[in-house]
Amino acid sequence: MSKVPYKIYLSEKELPTKWYNIQADMPTPLKPPLNPQTKKPVSPEDLAAIFPKDLILQEVSQEQYIDIPEEVQELYKSFRPSPLCRAYRLEKALGTPARIYYKYEGVTPSGSHKLNTAIPQVYYNKIVGIKRLSTETGAGQWGSALSIATKMFGLACTVYMVKVSYQQKPYRKSLMETFGATVIPSPSQLTEAGKRILAENPDSLGSLGIAISEAVEDAATHADTNYALGSVLNHVILHQTIIGQEAKLQMEKIDEYPDIIIGCCGGGSNFAGITFPFLKDKIKDGKKLRAIAVEPKACPTLTKGQFAYDFGDTAQMTPITMMYTLGHGFVPPGIHAGGLRYHGDSPLVSQLYKDGLIEARAVHQTEIFESAVLFAQTEGILPAPESSHAIKGAIDEALKCKQSGEAKTILFCLSGHGHFDLSAYEAYHNKQLEDFEYSDEMLEEGLKCIPTIE
Ligand SMILES: *Cc1c(COP(=O)(O)O)cnc(C)c1O
Repeated sequence: MSKVPYKIYLSEKELPTKWYNIQADMPTPLKPPLNPQTKKPVSPEDLAAIFPKDLILQEVSQEQYIDIPEEVQELYKSFRPSPLCRAYRLEKALGTPARIYYKYEGVTPSGSHKLNTAIPQVYYNKIVGIKRLSTETGAGQWGSALSIATKMFGLACTVYMVKVSYQQKPYRKSLMETFGATVIPSPSQLTEAGKRILAENPDSLGSLGIAISEAVEDAATHADTNYALGSVLNHVILHQTIIGQEAKLQMEKIDEYPDIIIGCCGGGSNFAGITFPFLKDKIKDGKKLRAIAVEPKACPTLTKGQFAYDFGDTAQMTPITMMYTLGHGFVPPGIHAGGLRYHGDSPLVSQLYKDGLIEARAVHQTEIFESAVLFAQTEGILPAPESSHAIKGAIDEALKCKQSGEAKTILFCLSGHGHFDLSAYEAYHNKQLEDFEYSDEMLEEGLKCIPTIE
């Protein structure tokens, strides 16, 4: 038998021209998002203050496939497809009969999957005449992606960066500034939401929930400015299905189909991006397939959170959505996988988890760095701490195969590289990383702020 190549690519002509919308195929439709003031279903007009029309339409669309605009396809071509790689050396190091594949999104100009949605989001804003986008960033990957995409289309960009990341990752800030963005540590004195938080706690290190409040307020109070979110929302997840659709085509080329697909899960976009096009086969054709979301034990949204209507941000400005949540007031411990420190999760991922179509598990940060180092030493790629949650998940499944002797096919999303995360690696090497267990008391405290909906 001829060996599967290390990397499987697609030609430009084979690239997907549509995104896949799982809303068309879900067994349980989403509950409508609610207006934060009236607690009635959100109207398109409510959203028009901060989002362009096309993205609002995508948010609620029930069409199974949505065309990728040609201008977006052209920009995708400059860095896509991302390679599908066979992890031969990792397999060998583990002594597993499993075949491990990873889809490597670290090859995008921003170093993660986030550019896949930044480009179309900026495009849809540009065509309606918006001049500036505001956003939040946790670890800095989303801010980097949006800075690059706004520069591609000639828009300005303001990034509210969670203060702890701003301090830990000065190079991310320099990267965003290189692409012309204005970067503001959050909480800041520039918004009412930020001022309120600082009045209560002048030393606040910030959180994604707080930074979202600031960015939304900025957009809502400036007519030429819209807001862009890097995860969670349905349209973001839609754009990320480019990952899974490519992976499916790449696997077809080598006559493979995954038994297990794994992604790390913060807001859920890379996990959804790689799994949803395959989950379609599970929902529609009864394909046997396990999809596993891996999250940090310090922010265990799916594995310990509650499925409830909750706000997406700390200041209660965003719509109330039905999702797994730890409570919008939750400020997670300052773990190094900053991109996974969000109190909520994508409503789409949440509903599929509720319906038992996907699985979730939580891991400690010291375990994920152990997996990250093994991966780096075998595959030669330095993974982002976020992505290393998926690596850990894949390694665990591969080791189960070693026990049982089954040669399963495992696919995971390597969502980004870790070149800006070396201070976290250093802390790991120096044995300075702490593991945080999210206690039942913390959970109880966090859930207290969830709103009651009649
Ligand atoms: C932002 C980010 C994540 C987490 O976000 P999701 O929406 O859950 O994908 C994971 N990995 C990397 C590299 C990121 O930048």
